[in-house]
Amino acid sequence: MRTSVIGFPRIGRNRELKFASEKYFKGEISEKELLATADTIKKENLLSQKEAGITYISSNDFSFYDNVLDTAVLFNVIPKRYRELKLSPLDTYFAMARGYQGENGNVKALAMKKWFNTNYHYLVPEIDDDTKIELVGKKPLEDFEAASRIGVNTKTAITGPFTFLKLTRFTGAKTAVDFADALINAYVKLLKELEKKGEGLIEFDEPGLVTDLTTGDIDLFKKIYTAILENKGSVKVLLQTYFGDIRDIYDEVIRLDFDAIGLDFVEGVKTQELVKSFPKGKVLFAGLVNGKNIWKNDYSKTLATLNGLKADEIVLGTSCSLLHVPYTLEGETGLENDCKAHFSFALEKLSELTELGELFGTDFEKDERFIKNKVLHAGRKNFEDSAVRAAVAAIKPEDYERLPKFEEREKIQKEKFNLPLFPTTTIGSFPQTADVRKNRLEFKKGLRSKEEYTEYNKTKIRECIRLQEEIGLDVIVHGEFERNDMVEYFGENLSGFLFTRNAWVQSYGTRCVKPAIIWGDVARKKPITVEWSKFAKSCTDKPVKGMLTGPVTILNWSFPREDISIKESTLQIALAIRDEVLDLEKNGISVIQIDEAALREKLPLRKADWYSEYLDWAIPAFRLVHSKVRPETQIHTHMCYSEFTDIIPAIDAMDADVITFEASRSDLLILDALRENNFKTEVGPGVYDIHSPRVPSVDEIVTALTKMREKIEDRKLWVNPDCGLKTRGEEETVKSLKNLVAAAKIIRGQA
Ligand code: GLN
Ligand code: ZN
Repeated sequence: MRTSVIGFPRIGRNRELKFASEKYFKGEISEKELLATADTIKKENLLSQKEAGITYISSNDFSFYDNVLDTAVLFNVIPKRYRELKLSPLDTYFAMARGYQGENGNVKALAMKKWFNTNYHYLVPEIDDDTKIELVGKKPLEDFEAASRIGVNTKTAITGPFTFLKLTRFTGAKTAVDFADALINAYVKLLKELEKKGEGLIEFDEPGLVTDLTTGDIDLFKKIYTAILENKGSVKVLLQTYFGDIRDIYDEVIRLDFDAIGLDFVEGVKTQELVKSFPKGKVLFAGLVNGKNIWKNDYSKTLATLNGLKADEIVLGTSCSLLHVPYTLEGETGLENDCKAHFSFALEKLSELTELGELFGTDFEKDERFIKNKVLHAGRKNFEDSAVRAAVAAIKPEDYERLPKFEEREKIQKEKFNLPLFPTTTIGSFPQTADVRKNRLEFKKGLRSKEEYTEYNKTKIRECIRLQEEIGLDVIVHGEFERNDMVEYFGENLSGFLFTRNAWVQSYGTRCVKPAIIWGDVARKKPITVEWSKFAKSCTDKPVKGMLTGPVTILNWSFPREDISIKESTLQIALAIRDEVLDLEKNGISVIQIDEAALREKLPLRKADWYSEYLDWAIPAFRLVHSKVRPETQIHTHMCYSEFTDIIPAIDAMDADVITFEASRSDLLILDALRENNFKTEVGPGVYDIHSPRVPSVDEIVTALTKMREKIEDRKLWVNPDCGLKTRGEEETVKSLKNLVAAAKIIRGQA
């Protein structure tokens, strides 16, 4: 059986691309050196796949930053402000990705958005009425040729025209339909050029098809592909979809002249049902090896599915690009072999594909490789905790409800805390300066004793609190100096989590994340944050906010289990964090923030599934964490974005007392939506952007607050930055916070 890979991680085995790019940005290496690193990575990726025996290997899956951006640049979708910088093509590309500030001008980057239901982010192409779409680049052609030169015959993978138009922002009067013809021509031209170079198969990636589609979308899709397919010449065309099923458009898709159709059997809940009517004469690319999670494939399940498929020709493939899993398990010496045996990263998934391909159609039940896989799956050990199972089973409906109701709590808390109008606070972390990181790192390496480490952090906490008092903030934080990462820190103190050395996954551009692995049932081993918060409280008379990461975020930023549902896992984590909440309360911490930075991460792609598949359990899971606290204990939550206009009732139903979120970069439309929905929770829309070192002026903050006051009642408005301050420098932080407090005072005078 033939096999196919949609895409391979391009950050390199040891994040070589990240480090080379960052050096290039700093001017430490030349363009030529950066290109050389890229070539090495591309070559290694291609050869690994070839050696593993993969039949259909992609070229053009590599990107210096993002494939959607690559496609935009390829087709001349380059806004004028970047052209006017008059930079080299590569630097124009990076200016679009990262913004540019220098001799040639000053422009912001293109907007960046979450790539479907992943933690990867793409750059949003921008088209205005004057944009002239045409094929101007050569990247797919060059990558195809480079692969041929080293003896790898690839399929060219490219963002498909439909998804491209769906993701584009149209800034003028014209819309997607107006650009369809030009885009069709550009893609056809690319096809022709590829044909000339000897390409036999082109893969159009169309994840846009797994979302809710309107009849307009369906018409647009048909128009585009009817035209492209009429001109495909001798090149075969694969329509590749992923991240779900294509129920809205399957019937149209199978009627078009595609040679092959790629479908996702892992996330596509309806895919099996749909392919019952798979057309004759076309090849089915069956995405059965999970491109998003790190568990070893269950061969008996996969082979059973394959056996049930009725298509003339089947190619076994990944469910999506392997971009979303780490590079390789090799070197993960910190993982116990018993655990490691259950995982498969990108490189290991290649062997799974070929093994499965070889087993299919044979008497595999007797094959050693099949038996080994079966034994492995049946024999997973040390992951169950009966006490945890019992605790989850014992959750009662009332455990999800905090009493008394919000309005009553609000009164009680106003009286208890007696905070001024427009209370000021921060989101939790303070600058993680070099000394803070050094203290933590040396402690981890055993170069510093626990006592030394703790003493150092206590000094930092004391200083941080003194500083906040001096600045005049109303609700104080301890600064989070002990934390590396908001999930890893908690995971390390919970049973059921595993951590890797090098399992990096690209989040955007040069940014990578190293998700934890949820191996088994989760319970809190011992109090996690209590000592730090207690100490902080002893340093001041002002209210100190305890800082926790919420269960949905911990789950969403980890590789989840596949043997139980993510709902079940989240409830386990929720109970563990609840223990921490109650311990904090017992120790006199009366304000507790439970961050849900990644709440939106796994929101289903189809609106109809938002509540039934996700919010209906994710929001209660959050409530479970805080429902048992006393009425006077104030629960805060924080989200890193303001994109929740469409789920405001769900956010309100988290039933926190206060929510802070990013708002400084958005157009404040969220405020209208809060008002329209009678949002009850008190709110702190960030008054300045912490992602930039710029110090906001008092005036600027006053203006922001004045706008907010038009939409939010004075008694419900908090004043805070839009996220944690850990990535900022000390000097700019102090200045910014002083201005923030000054602005709050001015506004108080006007109320
Ligand atoms: N409390 C965390 C901090 O301040 C929140 C981080 C986040 O929202 N990503 O760093
Ligand atoms: Zn944040």
